[in-house]
Amino acid sequence: SPSRSSVIIIGAGVSGISTAKVLAENGVEDLVILEASDRIGGRIRKEDFGGVPVELGAGWIAGVGGKESNPVWELADKSGLRTCFSDYSNARYNIYDKSGKIYPSGIAADSYKKAVESAIRKLRNEEANPCGGGNNVCKVTEPPSMPNTPMELAIDFVLHDFEMAEVEPISTYLDFGEREFLVADERGYEYLLYKMAEDFLFTSEGKILDSRLKLNKVVRELQHSRNGVTVITEDGSVYEANYVILSVSIGVLKSQLISFNPPLPRWKTEAIERCDVMVYTKIFLKFPYKFWPCGPGKEFFLYAHERRGYYTFWQHMENAYPGSNILVVTLTNGESKRVEAQPDSDTLKEAMGVLRDMFGPNIPDATDILVPRWFTNRFQCGSYSNYPLISNGQEFHGIQAPIGRIFFTGEHTSERFSGYVHGAYLAGIDTGKALVEEMGKESTERNSSCSEN
Ligand code: FAD
Repeated sequence: SPSRSSVIIIGAGVSGISTAKVLAENGVEDLVILEASDRIGGRIRKEDFGGVPVELGAGWIAGVGGKESNPVWELADKSGLRTCFSDYSNARYNIYDKSGKIYPSGIAADSYKKAVESAIRKLRNEEANPCGGGNNVCKVTEPPSMPNTPMELAIDFVLHDFEMAEVEPISTYLDFGEREFLVADERGYEYLLYKMAEDFLFTSEGKILDSRLKLNKVVRELQHSRNGVTVITEDGSVYEANYVILSVSIGVLKSQLISFNPPLPRWKTEAIERCDVMVYTKIFLKFPYKFWPCGPGKEFFLYAHERRGYYTFWQHMENAYPGSNILVVTLTNGESKRVEAQPDSDTLKEAMGVLRDMFGPNIPDATDILVPRWFTNRFQCGSYSNYPLISNGQEFHGIQAPIGRIFFTGEHTSERFSGYVHGAYLAGIDTGKALVEEMGKESTERNSSCSEN
């Protein structure tokens, strides 16, 4: 029969690793981590491209310089992780139209200001008239203006799909500050996870060699009862534990890759269904030489097109890696899914068409392209959770609440910081603590029932 451990953690992303660390620190050493892929890190993932390390998943430490200190910023500081300050605010002054002209800064700034005001007005309306549920009729007192022109669409895309601090009063910016730092380190963002793992897993020469971490173990079924949980993986392995911590993404929970026996209660599946999944794709392009401007205030630039989100947001990597000759373009949601489904050669053609609109017909072709597929990847099924800005917190509680011996963690269970690395990290710590407390209660109950006998 399979051996039984105290706790099985499913998923070795940042939340799974931070949960395990808290458990180990509290004396729960008898744990197993089952990870579907062949590496730790999950949505934190470095790859070498065109001679430099690039981050396919999380790239920034978001929320720095505020009244509270971002714990991920502290980890980065302790590990000596190399980062570069990103000033998104200059993007609005570098908006190209299809003929390669940059919109005059006055016009762009004015349009930007209007878009921010309109977004704030919309938010106030939603706060005053919360829609959804009950019989409330939503009255929109002053309709926000809709973006129409290519320039307005480009600005709208940046404001909303990039979660800009100016319009979204979210805890990341309010508590930790509005500054964002790009991770630009040979060891990758994922080095922070290795540093965490080193404290409780056996490592040697930068590799985790601990047999409690099991890679390439795709969990497909959880059988749970009052007495424990049985975990079955795709390769037919069976693991038993007193408790399970499930740290897979919201997209994976929706996908039904994992079946539950007995099934999850309706309120749980409904909470999972209600949470939207955002897809966010950074496409990397390598060139033989630079043809874009690189001075101060030029790191980010926008392409204004009549289709919202069509290769809109660009960044050059010269600040992070001078001489790398790499551009990054970010797509989201529908555009991400469209591009994931087509061959990279088509995506390259589209991107080159856009670049030739902006910089003229004589620029060189990219020599290499990298298109991450976060949506198609069945261990991710998207990039991160996207809760409505105005929410009463019920969604989080439904998604996070344990079902018997199964605890839920991950970015999507963080009420204050969902969608971020620090959200996943802090969720893991909270889940670890909650489980330690639960285990304490259980052993007290067991002891007291023994003494009654
Ligand atoms: P994950 O990292 O997804 O970990 C879950 C693990 O579970 C994965 O390793 C997965 O392989 C594994 N798994 C899945 N299914 C199974 C199964 N059936 N059996 C076993 N294992 C399974 N955040 C920021 O703070 N700043 C950013 O700039 C930023 N940019 C982002 C850009 C992109 C493109 C993406 C995708 C995310 C970005 N994020 C960013 C969000 C951040 O990466 C996540 O919030 C965080 O990494 C999530 O960690 P997690 O532990 O919750 O989940």
